[in-house]
Amino acid sequence: MYNLKESKELFNRASNSLVGSVNSPVRAFKSVGGQAVFIDKAQGPYIFDVDGNKYIDYVGSYGPMIVGHAHRQVLNEVQIACEKSFTFGASGEKEIELAELIKEAIPSLDKVRFVNSGTEAVFSALRLARAFTGRDKILKFSGCYHGHADALLVEAGSGVVTLGLPGSQGVPEKAVKDTLVAPFNDLLSVEGLFNQFNNEIAAVIIEPVAGNMGVVLPNEGYLKALKNICEKHGALLIADEVMTGFRAHFGAAHTLFDIDADIVCLGKVIGGGFPVGAYAARSEIMDLVAPLGPVYQAGTLSGNPIAMTAGIETLKLLKKGDLYGQMSIYAENLERHLLDTANKYSVPLSVNRFGSMISAFFQKGKVCDFQQAQDSDTEMFARYFWSMMKEGIFLPPSQFEACFLSSAMDEDCMQQTMESITKTFKDL
Ligand SMILES: *Cc1c(COP(=O)(O)O)cnc(C)c1O
Repeated sequence: MYNLKESKELFNRASNSLVGSVNSPVRAFKSVGGQAVFIDKAQGPYIFDVDGNKYIDYVGSYGPMIVGHAHRQVLNEVQIACEKSFTFGASGEKEIELAELIKEAIPSLDKVRFVNSGTEAVFSALRLARAFTGRDKILKFSGCYHGHADALLVEAGSGVVTLGLPGSQGVPEKAVKDTLVAPFNDLLSVEGLFNQFNNEIAAVIIEPVAGNMGVVLPNEGYLKALKNICEKHGALLIADEVMTGFRAHFGAAHTLFDIDADIVCLGKVIGGGFPVGAYAARSEIMDLVAPLGPVYQAGTLSGNPIAMTAGIETLKLLKKGDLYGQMSIYAENLERHLLDTANKYSVPLSVNRFGSMISAFFQKGKVCDFQQAQDSDTEMFARYFWSMMKEGIFLPPSQFEACFLSSAMDEDCMQQTMESITKTFKDL
């Protein structure tokens, strides 16, 4: 019997000391209803809740745990680093080493600045783009999530859409007056905005492959055209690769579409499960940041040795093995199984996938933008979610999040996942 008794007790206890019992909204399971789970531990591809239920983990902490949980090599090096203490407030070699690994993987970058979260990376990148161009306006795309900075909480994905919020209260109008929004995959809207606000747009920011409205791929030629428009109008292109960086190959997703972004934001995977973000660009841009330049940005724990170590070891594992190839094959098999099974049991389903990132939308239509993503049947998703949980498959509790495979998954994991999908779709 599937039992969440301990989770329920912790959830109730947490409600007295944590807002909504959680520290990040999606964890409350609001959009799928029912009892949110509390986690005890995780190892390799598996995650265990406090009631002892064992699941195959497709959340992977929303991306960072790409080599699986508590990977021996990462753990060993982190333990060694911990012995040398946790943070110094002064520089160390690990910061250089991780920056060099990132530069090697994304050759357009000269300099990296580490911060503590994706949110921080993105809002610092905006500040930098505004300083570099001397302009104020930012263009973002609906359904893309760039963290919770004021200027970017407009038509955002992830928890904002999961909870059905229009944006956020507490964001002053002034803070978003320079934020322009266009639909994802719609070039005409972008051109229209550039014509209207000629010489005012500092940067276009995009998730090159969107992951926070569920996975949505860019149309053929879309990113290239976007880059051309930016160049023509003297605006920078910021690739928010916090989710996609090092996810589908050893590098940044946008480079697979034959472009270089001007500023790249990273996070998630490059911290190997510890709090890390980074923004990076060519020297001409990055040298504006303090202490070399006038753009101020700082952090007490930035580049801290434990997080750097976890990031370095994770990237080394990814660089060395053909982990990406295997993850991608597994994800492709899952995609095919989802579609075949949906077909067999007449479940309306549309699947988008980027390497080992995959989303199953409960609808028949193709999903190419936020509006189409929102046509999905979220009640059907909730039934799917809970049936999968009972089968031992841990999925993100929202139609609008991606599932992440890890290199710790094996044939057994795949088989169990596929059987669970078959059972679930049979009575959906
Ligand atoms: C997760 C994410 C962020 C925010 O990162 P945090 O570490 O949660 O602050 C920003 N952009 C994208 C694309 C993300 O996926």
